[in-house]
Amino acid sequence: MKFHEMPYERPDLKACQAAMKDLMDRLDRAASKEEKFEIHKEYYKLRDHIMTMSEISMIRNDADMTDPVYEEENKFFDESRPILQSMEVAYARKLREKAPELIDIIGPVAFKNMEIAERAMDDKLIPLMQEENALCTRYGRLLATAKIEWEGEELNLSLMTPYLRSSDRSVRKAAYEKYTAFFAENQEELDEIYDLLVKNRTEQGRMMGYDNFVPLGYDRMQRNSYDKSAIADFRAQVKKDWVPFAEKIHQARAERIGVAGNMSYIDEGVYFLNGNPAPTGTPEEILAAGGRMYDELSPETSEFFRFMQENELFDVLGRKTKRTGGYMTFLPDYNAPFIFANFNGTAGDVDVITHECGHAFQGYLSGKDPIREHADITMDIAEIHSMSMEFFTEPWYKLFFGDRADDYTRMHLEDSACFIPYGTMVDEFQHIVYENPDLTPKARRAAWRDLERQYKPHLDYTGNEYYENGGFWQKQHHIYDLPFYYIDYCLSQTCSFEYKVWMDENYKEAWESYLKLCRLSASDFYGGLLEAAGLEIPFNDGCLRHIAEKLQSRL
Ligand code: ZN
Repeated sequence: MKFHEMPYERPDLKACQAAMKDLMDRLDRAASKEEKFEIHKEYYKLRDHIMTMSEISMIRNDADMTDPVYEEENKFFDESRPILQSMEVAYARKLREKAPELIDIIGPVAFKNMEIAERAMDDKLIPLMQEENALCTRYGRLLATAKIEWEGEELNLSLMTPYLRSSDRSVRKAAYEKYTAFFAENQEELDEIYDLLVKNRTEQGRMMGYDNFVPLGYDRMQRNSYDKSAIADFRAQVKKDWVPFAEKIHQARAERIGVAGNMSYIDEGVYFLNGNPAPTGTPEEILAAGGRMYDELSPETSEFFRFMQENELFDVLGRKTKRTGGYMTFLPDYNAPFIFANFNGTAGDVDVITHECGHAFQGYLSGKDPIREHADITMDIAEIHSMSMEFFTEPWYKLFFGDRADDYTRMHLEDSACFIPYGTMVDEFQHIVYENPDLTPKARRAAWRDLERQYKPHLDYTGNEYYENGGFWQKQHHIYDLPFYYIDYCLSQTCSFEYKVWMDENYKEAWESYLKLCRLSASDFYGGLLEAAGLEIPFNDGCLRHIAEKLQSRL
């Protein structure tokens, strides 16, 4: 079904609660494993429908933030989500108690996740969770409604990106001044929202019996396979083995763009003197090139992309009233992925066709799995699907970038490599913030600036007081909305580099492994999935060092 034809109706919470109670009562009485699984399949159906409505509401609200109808619906879901979540937890508790034998069908990961979900949720948290959702919405709205005066036009933050990366240094300097001015002018509110979020989440952690929010934050990320100390070890590996590699890349880039010895923060996103490679086509042509690429890549990707286009499951054109950023989500009732983005004429548009389509492709493949829990994927794995697709699509870059395809390949590799220190720094920052919830906004900024000196020592913020004082992170949605999410990107980026190294040696073999990983979805734990795919676990000491050595020789 085409997206615009998909009916939306606000779920009746009371009816949902009654239906859920009925399922739970029947689980009490069910005798056989088969009977219990039949009941569980009805639960799948109920949950799928609520999720589909919630996602449709979110997409339509994001697509036009001035539309009052879906703004109301989104508010409804903000308020209802904790209630729905609490219903799910009650159901999971019942399932674990009355149908433990279903572990043979739905698997041990599902049961472990139910245990975590139960541990992470209690009805007493609901008022705080509602407030937390409202604060995230307030932050999103503040950023989305930014209007930056630029050459006689009013641009949102996302539409400023091309100017921040302009090959003309004076243009990007002016763009950064305007861009940063928005954050500096709103610093008080940005601080206030974040401070309220930290205090709110800390309170939730304490209500669940912890010293702070961190254990609850981990449970919310559904960390079912490793703990805080493994992540701390990974961060240490990044500092020791990856930061020096990334710094070499920055130095080489500085020479290439003629700012060696004089590199400024305004040069961060610039890779070539003649400008960063940008797509040569219109948005429509980029989509068409995507179609051709996925047709040629494999029969599976071809079927997927055609399905997306036929059903209008892309909303990628930039509009002033759209939410900034991009994402992929899934509409379970239709087994349909959906991709949301804001095309702005930069290479970021192609990332949507590669990265977000990687997520969507995996969703499309695993959506056919009758065991719904297998779709309950953690981000450390999910981002492998997307980030590796960015590399698997390298042979087709010429369709998007013409004679600058090689430049894009280089830029993409360098950008991906330099992301790891940044992402890891975001993770360390969040540990500092949530382990020390009484830090003042000023102390938080100082902590951020200190981390920048460790993870991105080349940064020079001369002339930008707001960044020099540690304000850069306030533009990062994940830091407000999704605590502890960022390290998953870094773990996945590491695995996607493993694929990059592998495909350069044997593309076909690497692709087969990738397909296998996509289809396995969340049917096993992190280590088991990586092992089945033939990937090394990033936590293993030396993992990053080996990749850096291999990549160094390519650069
Ligand atoms: Zn992603």
